[in-house]
This record gives sequence, C-alpha cells and structure tokens, in this order.
Amino acid sequence: MAADRACVLAWLRRSADVLREQRVYLTDLDSAIGDGDHGTNMDRGFTAVMEKLAGVSEADVGTILTTVGTTLVSTVGGASGPLYGTAFLRAGTALAGKQELQPADVAAGFEAALEGIQARGRAQRGEKTMVDALGPAVDTLRSAIGNGKNLSDALQAAAAAAAAGAVATIPLLATKGRASYLGERSVGHQDPGATSVSLLLRAAAAGR
Ligand code: ADP
Ligand code: MG
Repeated sequence: MAADRACVLAWLRRSADVLREQRVYLTDLDSAIGDGDHGTNMDRGFTAVMEKLAGVSEADVGTILTTVGTTLVSTVGGASGPLYGTAFLRAGTALAGKQELQPADVAAGFEAALEGIQARGRAQRGEKTMVDALGPAVDTLRSAIGNGKNLSDALQAAAAAAAAGAVATIPLLATKGRASYLGERSVGHQDPGATSVSLLLRAAAAGR
C-alpha cells in the first residue's frame, strides 16, 4: 500500500488543522518552560505552508516536502523554524522525484527528518526536545515496516510511540534550547516541541 502525493498533501492539511486547534495548548506548554510562542510559531508556519502548497500541488513528494521546509525556515522564527525546516528539507531530499511512497520510503523520510533535526540542533535523546518524540517514532516505524506491517498500522504504532515520547519528557531535565535556561525548574513539564511532533505523527496516522 503506497502513499501518493494526495496522501502527503492531506497529511499536511490535517497537520495545519491540528496545529491551529492545539495552538493554545502548545503555547501554554511553552509558557511553562520557554517563551510561550511554540503554538503561534507552528500555526503561523503551517498556515504559510498551506498557502505555498497551492502552487506545487502537482509536484512530486520530494518537491512538496522541500517547499514545506523552505516555508517553515522563512516564516517560523526561534529554534523550531530552522529545526522543523531542516527536517522537511532533509525528508524532501531523501524522497526527491518520488510520485508515490512505499512504506520503506515513508520510514526513510522520517528518518532523514530526525537526522536533520539532530544535525541542526545537536540534541541527543533524553535532553527534553522534539528528538524525544521523533526518535521513538522513527524506531517504531522502522521496525513495524521491517516486520511487514502495512503503512496504516505502522503509522498508528509510530504515532503512539511519539505520544508516549512526548509524555516521557515530563520528568526530564532540559539541556538544549530555551528550556535549558531553567535548569532543574524545567523538570515536571512536557516539552512543547516533542508535543508538536506527536501531533504531526497523529495527523499522519489519522489519514490511513
Ligand atoms: P523557541 O525556543 O525559539 O521559542 P519554539 O518555542 O517554537 O522556539 O520551540 C521550542 C522547542 O524547540 C522545544 O520545545 C524543543 O522541543 C525544540 N528545541 C529547542 N532546541 C532544540 C535543539 N537543540 N534540538 C532539538 N529540539 C530543540
Ligand atoms: Mg518558544
């Protein structure tokens, strides 16, 4: 079962919708350990993405993802703009020219995104960042697809892993990004970036 361009565009649409719905929640999380802008940052970025995508709706999947990346870099400030931007740019490069994605391609795209975030932000797992949701999601996606699960089931499992990863940031001490300025006071709060990652994975699973 492959995912075509329409699936990818529908995922991005659902992502924009959920980020708008959850804007206040994400901003509240960021108010506790950051500067209270993560929800508005993500909503602004994905609103711009939806406008941009109107012009590339006939493009291949790689071009669509690259367009998302450049749009996020140019419209979202702070840490998350360059990090999410790099994630989508790397995924776009990994999937360049593809008209449809096999399950292994989807895994490769998410893996490239994780590598991009880690190359850019230098965060390892356990530092209370988006890596703590995307890392387990990529592991789960890889093994589910490797074990022959279909894309729908694999994405459901990956979304559950991302959600669990986001919750598991609560007891962690932040050592990267703005939350690290709080030191021990960052403990006891869920990371906003890990939470937005889990929303994007949930949106991916929802369409299958
Ligand atoms: P800012 O921190 O500039 O206000 P946002 O509030 O939009 O940007 O995003 C904050 C999120 O970015 C954090 O919750 C965290 O998940 C993520 N983040 C910050 N620094 C890093 C990093 N070095 N590597 C990975 N993710 C990071
Ligand atoms: Mg912030």
